[in-house]
Amino acid sequence: RSKEVGRNSFQLYKASMNARSLERLSMLSRFQSALECNEFELHYQPVQCLNEEHISSVECLLRWQDPNLGMISPAQFIPLAEELGLITKLDQWVINRACEKMAFWRHQGIQLQRIAINVSAQHLHQGELALTVANALERHQLPGSCLEIELTESSFISNLHEAKSELKKLKALGVSIALDDFGTGYSALSYLTKLPIDVLKIDASFTSKVPDEYGNSEIVTAIVAMAKALKLKVVAEGVEKQVQKEFLKQLDCHYLQGYLFCRPLSESHWLRFYQEHIRSNLEAPMH
Ligand code: C2E
Ligand code: MG
Ligand code: MG
Ligand code: MG
Repeated sequence: RSKEVGRNSFQLYKASMNARSLERLSMLSRFQSALECNEFELHYQPVQCLNEEHISSVECLLRWQDPNLGMISPAQFIPLAEELGLITKLDQWVINRACEKMAFWRHQGIQLQRIAINVSAQHLHQGELALTVANALERHQLPGSCLEIELTESSFISNLHEAKSELKKLKALGVSIALDDFGTGYSALSYLTKLPIDVLKIDASFTSKVPDEYGNSEIVTAIVAMAKALKLKVVAEGVEKQVQKEFLKQLDCHYLQGYLFCRPLSESHWLRFYQEHIRSNLEAPMH
């Protein structure tokens, strides 16, 4: 009896394995053709300087428009790309596209300090990130100071030394390093002093619960204070409400990102937003 149950569950397991590998296989080929057919595009979300209200940078957020499935969220396809070993290829595409756009915008007189790019932990550990970045900068004749690379804490867990040497190479190019989703990983705070990090991005799960939920305001206050004490720039992600902005302003947090200021936008919408922003800032009374 128990043998039978065992065999049945094995068969079930086998069937789901097959379905799963089929799914992987079809995803793999869809992914590869998506890269070839230009089904990926970048959207851009501006980051606002809290003090002067100007736009300091934009973050590139990858979008996949599948002809059959429609828009697929990066939260879905990034983990898949990592699993399939395709993330480096995808990241390289993003880095090149971002540099191309930044160079083009600068040429058009758009004043942005930086363009921020999300890079997967896996990519960092293949030891080619700095090389890819250097090549993209060179190809588009862009100074490294125009780029910010966003990494999550998970990037440093498996091999701190390796991560450090890659980050140093990026720093040598003039590129800034941001720690994304800060506060959600399992990392030790000592990373902040061991690695050449320039920017902390406070995860939306903290900022979105400010000021109501007990403890969150305190955590955000502490992160901002710590970042400043360590001479890091600090960005609050996921700011959706005016009260949250007021709270962050009162903490003298440097930058803000979120739906309150602007959602991630397609290139043409982003450029329109930028022009509008410049115009309304010019019209605003001096203070
Ligand atoms: P992330 O880098 O932390 O990006 C912030 C995410 O929060 C984005 O989701 C953005 O659309 C969303 N967001 C921004 N403001 C608000 C807000 O006020 N409220 C709420 N609820 N959400 C807000 P998205 O675009 O779905 O990206 C999810 C994650 O996928 C990113 O998190 C990043 O880790 C990853 N990702 C995106 N693009 C790339 C990429 O080009 N390469 C890699 N490796 N990862 C990427
Ligand atoms: Mg990010
Ligand atoms: Mg984040
Ligand atoms: Mg994230």
